[in-house]
Amino acid sequence: MPGIKKELTQLNTFAKKSYGQNFLSNKSKIDKIAEEILNNSTNDIIEIGPGLGAITEPLVNQKRNIICIEKDKVLIENLKNKFKLKKNITLINEDVLKIDFKSISSENSIIVGNLPYNISTKILIKFVNELHENTNKGIFMFQREVADKIIAKKIKKNQLSSKIKIFYEVKEILKVNENDFWPPPKIKSSVLLFTPKKISSNNLNMKELDKFLQCAFFSNRKKIVNNLANKYDKDRIFSILKKLRINDKARPEEINEDILFRIFIMINNNKF
Ligand code: SAM
Repeated sequence: MPGIKKELTQLNTFAKKSYGQNFLSNKSKIDKIAEEILNNSTNDIIEIGPGLGAITEPLVNQKRNIICIEKDKVLIENLKNKFKLKKNITLINEDVLKIDFKSISSENSIIVGNLPYNISTKILIKFVNELHENTNKGIFMFQREVADKIIAKKIKKNQLSSKIKIFYEVKEILKVNENDFWPPPKIKSSVLLFTPKKISSNNLNMKELDKFLQCAFFSNRKKIVNNLANKYDKDRIFSILKKLRINDKARPEEINEDILFRIFIMINNNKF
């Protein structure tokens, strides 16, 4: 899109690959993403990687409070200039991976972003690890391949997608094509909505849950019992599966996330 190229040239900069800079140029897709964000009643929005402000602008104009985290110094200066008359925007020039989400979010903040592809999974893990006890929703764009794995019901399911779906309902809300960006990436993208499930996860040991899931998905072709037996007592696993009425021949990808979480809780509950 010439407009984006022109803006970058005027700023004496260029689209940086190392920062995953593919800027959204399709106006109707930008409007759709903004509409999905604005559909949520919350006033507080945190945007990761605002870039040139394509998604930011409609949000700022709707008078929501928006905090933007952008690593690129040139782009943050440009945004400061663009939105200098707006009081409802805070611009932070920082690497999002160094930001403590809890300290900048409120109970109802929604976290959004067309994520830099090279660190999109890291950002998602951070979102889940730091905010899973809260009620914060997320709306993020990922490369299609990653998005498909996250929403997969079977087969492509893995440790990461199961962890996310223990805590969130995940829904694809928009498909985005290569030519909806400038410069166009080599791959398609999808926008996913993450809605927190109401599960009680207070005092949850996330490191133990990670170890459990890593073990459960050690080999997708093996039965879950055999995978888990590498770390936990096999008889105990058999009796937990029996109690939960799970076929003991089931493979990890065949077990729904809520059940997986129950298995984890029961394994760690000494009274069982
Ligand atoms: N939101 C804009 C859009 O949709 O056109 C830009 C999206 S672009 C895919 C990703 C943005 O994230 C870029 O502006 C990039 O500079 C920024 N970014 C890359 N790595 C970052 C990091 N570690 N922390 C914060 N922002 C980052």
